[in-house]
Amino acid sequence: MKLPKIRELLEAIKALIVGPYTSKFPYKPHIPHPNFRGQPIYNPDKCVGCLACEEVCPSEAIGHEDITDDSEPRRLMIHYTDTCIFCGSCEAACIADNEGIKQSNDWELSFFDRKEAQETIEKELQLCEICGEVIACKDHLKWISEKIGELAYSSPSLYFSRLKSLGIIDENIISAVRDSGRSDRVKILCARCRRETTLTTR
Ligand code: SF4
Ligand code: SF4
Repeated sequence: MKLPKIRELLEAIKALIVGPYTSKFPYKPHIPHPNFRGQPIYNPDKCVGCLACEEVCPSEAIGHEDITDDSEPRRLMIHYTDTCIFCGSCEAACIADNEGIKQSNDWELSFFDRKEAQETIEKELQLCEICGEVIACKDHLKWISEKIGELAYSSPSLYFSRLKSLGIIDENIISAVRDSGRSDRVKILCARCRRETTLTTR
């Protein structure tokens, strides 16, 4: 018969005194260690909708959907908790001072319907004032103009989106004149329309 080693005997005696290492979940709620890195959660007030987290996610647990067919163009940022591996890359890459998405200590993610495994936030989109293409989220444009400071004055798109976000010009005023020329240059435009209006001389 193989006898237990002394270390194993000591471990067994210790377990009798201090109890098992495992918790009694699900009979008792399990409280994870404060440093446990669990499910990431979006902070809609901090996230600017830049998609950096989606780019770096190794398990494609982050996606987005741009809705542009109604009067409130918006981007849905979606986190699929059922494919997330809690690696923290999204938080590490977040341009909003790592506050747009943050790991919580939430670990209990069982669900009956897979749709419950999705966390979604909405961000307002800025569309090109000529062709209607998506430029970026409004908060992202604001973030860029704050980062580059007075250089934002060199880009009409950044300049006007900043003035709109500050309420200095009316959010809903869009010039009706469309001539793909000089007057169109002072609008919020996508890169293609900016190029066309700049290269067109009228
Ligand atoms: S924690 Fe990792 S796997 Fe989960 S959403 Fe973030 S980057 Fe993707
Ligand atoms: S601000 Fe952060 S959380 Fe929001 S989309 Fe960008 S990287 Fe993701």
